[in-house]
Amino acid sequence: MNVTLVDRRNHHLFQPLLYQVATAGLNPSDIASPVRRILRNQRNVEVLLADAHGIDLAQRCVLLDHATLPYDHLIIATGASHSYFGHPEWAQLAPGLKSIEDALEIRRRVLLAYELAEQEHDEAERERCMTFVVVGGGPTGVELAGALAEIARTALARDFRHIDPRRARVILLEAGPRILPSYPAELSASAVRQLNKLGVDVKMSEAVTGIDLGGVTTAHGRIEAHSVLWAAGVAASPLVAALGAELDRQGRARVSAQLTLPGSDNVYVVGDVAHVEQTTGPVPGVAPAAIQQGRYAAERIRRQLRGEASEPFRYRDKGSLATIGRAAAVADVGRLHFSGAFAWLVWLLVHIMALVGFRNRVLVFFEWLWSYVTYERGARLITGRIEPEPVAMPSAAARGANTSATGGQASLESLPASGAVVDPVEEASLESFPASDAPGWIGSTGR
Ligand SMILES: Cc1cc2nc3c(=O)[nH]c(=O)nc-3n(C[C@H](O)[C@H](O)[C@H](O)COP(=O)(O)OP(=O)(O)OC[C@H]3O[C@@H](n4cnc5c(N)ncnc54)[C@H](O)[C@@H]3O)c2cc1C
Repeated sequence: MNVTLVDRRNHHLFQPLLYQVATAGLNPSDIASPVRRILRNQRNVEVLLADAHGIDLAQRCVLLDHATLPYDHLIIATGASHSYFGHPEWAQLAPGLKSIEDALEIRRRVLLAYELAEQEHDEAERERCMTFVVVGGGPTGVELAGALAEIARTALARDFRHIDPRRARVILLEAGPRILPSYPAELSASAVRQLNKLGVDVKMSEAVTGIDLGGVTTAHGRIEAHSVLWAAGVAASPLVAALGAELDRQGRARVSAQLTLPGSDNVYVVGDVAHVEQTTGPVPGVAPAAIQQGRYAAERIRRQLRGEASEPFRYRDKGSLATIGRAAAVADVGRLHFSGAFAWLVWLLVHIMALVGFRNRVLVFFEWLWSYVTYERGARLITGRIEPEPVAMPSAAARGANTSATGGQASLESLPASGAVVDPVEEASLESFPASDAPGWIGSTGR
């Protein structure tokens, strides 16, 4: 049997620890491994770095950018990305967390926000710079909010001269009545308590109605915030949309009990892109489910080739864990529901073991040990653009005027397209530095 693995990225990414890259705890290479290296010893597997943009079911081939790839059996496992619930314009204002690029962008914005606050003379604007809003109270939102609050109070606490990072506001917004809705209610309540202890302001039943350059609008009012991070919606990879299968609300293909596309016994859809019904409901979009489905599909193909029958797929739920911060987590494992330090230790152990590659396990273990002892975050680098925003921020006064003119929604369309525009707020604050002190690396317009 010959296997071809097609991926548009050259690395496997362990998404559960992405939030640690976004909050400067780990480096990208700690949680990612080159696919070629992982499969180095699997002699019958070929790796193709390519984007699959379509599938021709009739001709049995995958359409790549510059070629077509014929198949006898196909497994589609293209995962999911963000959904902004019909507001694609929010993507630029509130980055989500799915890839290494996303994590580095979040890290850049968060660290830059403190740098801006340090140089800001206006009290209201400084507060805005030090306000972080995380939208979505699922595991990713909870982990992000907890880590942001933690670095403000520990790793960054003593590094600035004009601001006190411990006064940063981290707000977690959840549209539903509770955070971690897939966990038992007692664990959701425990998560709120643990987040509050870290200083996170958790607001439930508060749906976001607008995101603009100055902050966030909800049904309950307005939050002025420099950094808005998106952890709310998931949409399946569009690759399955044109295959004729029925799609669920997230765009996932409803597959048979054998994980195949209805009507195509040789085409499997697995992982985050598949909607798999079990007697207990749909299989959740989590890593163990994706791994079990991938294994099932591979094993079923082997059986098909040997002319053997297969049982339908059965998901084995091994439980869920979400971390909140240092010695703070929740665990839902079978009938056991627990939280706090023990849940956190279990979380650490499970995530170290789940990382791909011995090197990454060792590196992450020592990174975590180091930051546990020192309260440090080893990856506090601002990389990429050093302009504070992807587009210009109107000044505080102009923003007020803008708000009344547009009902709180500064339109992206009303801004120049280039993005290389000086932030008047920053410009003003930079002007007030003596020329020799003006830090040319921040708010610079030369690029
Ligand atoms: C921030 C975050 C935190 C998470 N935390 C947890 C957690 O704590 N526990 C847990 O169990 N789960 C967690 N998950 C969910 C878990 O990561 C996913 O359920 C799992 O990765 C799904 O695996 P998959 O193989 O279906 O998709 P993915 O892991 O997303 O893999 C899809 C692959 O397909 C490639 N691809 C996509 N489209 C194309 C194309 N057109 N052409 C070529 N290649 C393509 C991508 O490059 C990617 O390599 C988390 C997810 C995120 C984003």
